[in-house]
Amino acid sequence: MIYPEVRNYINGTFVPSKSTQYLDVVSPLDGTLLSKVPLSCAGDLDDAVTKAQQAFRLWSKVPIKERVQVFYRYKALLEKNISGLSQLIREENGKTFDEAKAEIEKSIELTEFACSLPQITGGEILEVSSGVECRTEACPVGVVASIVPFNFPSMVPNWTIPNALALGNTMILKPSEVVPLSAARIAGLLEEAGLPAGVFNIVNGNRSIVEAICDHPGINAISFVGSTKVAKIVYARATSGFKRVLALGGAKNHLIVLPDANRSMTAANVAASMSGCAGQRCMAASVMVAVGDCDPIIDLVCKEAAKIIPGRNLGSVISRAAKDRIEWHITEAEKQGARILLDGRNAIVPGKENGFYVGPTVIDHVSPGMSIATEEIFGPVLSVIRVNTIDEALSIENSNPYGNAAAVFTQNGGMAKYVAERANAGMIGVNIGVPVPREPFSFGGWNESKFGVGDLTGKSSVQFWTKLKKTTTKWNPEAGTNWMS
Ligand code: NAD
Repeated sequence: MIYPEVRNYINGTFVPSKSTQYLDVVSPLDGTLLSKVPLSCAGDLDDAVTKAQQAFRLWSKVPIKERVQVFYRYKALLEKNISGLSQLIREENGKTFDEAKAEIEKSIELTEFACSLPQITGGEILEVSSGVECRTEACPVGVVASIVPFNFPSMVPNWTIPNALALGNTMILKPSEVVPLSAARIAGLLEEAGLPAGVFNIVNGNRSIVEAICDHPGINAISFVGSTKVAKIVYARATSGFKRVLALGGAKNHLIVLPDANRSMTAANVAASMSGCAGQRCMAASVMVAVGDCDPIIDLVCKEAAKIIPGRNLGSVISRAAKDRIEWHITEAEKQGARILLDGRNAIVPGKENGFYVGPTVIDHVSPGMSIATEEIFGPVLSVIRVNTIDEALSIENSNPYGNAAAVFTQNGGMAKYVAERANAGMIGVNIGVPVPREPFSFGGWNESKFGVGDLTGKSSVQFWTKLKKTTTKWNPEAGTNWMS
């Protein structure tokens, strides 16, 4: 085992769980046993919530301009430690070093945004009738929990941590049990940056600790990022206990390609979108809907994708189960008559035979009803569906139950606008394969890709992490009293 057993982080200290149940943490790069992670019990969560409640009393009273000083220092620490942090992400998640580094760069950008919160959360004041002032104030919600998935061990926790804490909340993070090591490093850096004990806590575990978080009366709000299946469970369970919940789910993103699209740019974008992070991104291209004669572009996509080599510029998928599931879907599509243009099944990386690799895969002549076209595959696989008209393409995109992202590739501005207006997704790309809105814009999909109101990052997140106090004040008794004063 390369690293010591993972511990929980409660009140500024790494502590062993009270549970005796542990899971192995295995590197998907080569199957190496990295560590063991505890499946924490309700008693661990109780401790963390008690400490977070105590810390909230002080932290929520610290002026926001002082709170964000911690995040200026945290940002500097992310920059200083970028190489080691990226390496750790690579080991536990399997993505390439450059992809892991990009994740830390994004974490830095998220932290920069949190540092700007004093400038945008100032509240409003207005004299609403003679001598009577109304003032709004964004107050922290209390103890919040952030439940995160495996695919971005640093970026997704950092979607929530800097904003929620800068706005005065205290937090319990529940990392993915598959990649718990980066979260512990985040805790160490926050501590080094001067975050007071108890403001940020980590409780490790899987399903049962998530259920305990949903039910815990001391937790006021929960953000969840993961699959749609679990997002629905968490949303239903936690809101039935009257908690505030924002639950981001899975995705099935369609890229609509028109024959006039810039060929090389489109092919490079599509190939990068479907294969980046081994296809394990909720913003990854999954279906290319080719309108009319797109053969030259499809050929180029295959050429671009063929340059992406497992173990070189393509990381592993997260587990043996993920590899088997992805390959099963490819085989099913083949059996149902789709044509495999580029086959990533049975990829082996010499020297890393125990790793979990799937090569880039392009499947042509997929029909809309095939499972490869309807289910979230979460691997480096692109399905190509051919249609004759833009409305057929939109009808396919519109009828998928998710709504994270959609994109259009064309050089015709009118067509781009037509698709952007009609695509049924929260994040739209025009000639962009991974249309992640950067700060201060907010991240969040629609439909079965998100349950709850608002978005998780950027300006729109402020509403989720705060509650608005409205104070109406009158100091002029001489003005008399009527219904407006
Ligand atoms: P997951 O849903 O399996 O797990 C997410 C979290 O929920 C983990 O912390 C896990 O421990 C916990 N969990 C798992 N099963 C549970 C259950 N039955 N009850 C309660 N908690 C449970 O997701 P994952 O496999 O870690 O991540 C991949 C998924 O996340 C994909 O579907 C991907 O699209 C999605 N994702 C979405 C976004 C987004 O912004 N919409 C971002 C990243 C990932």
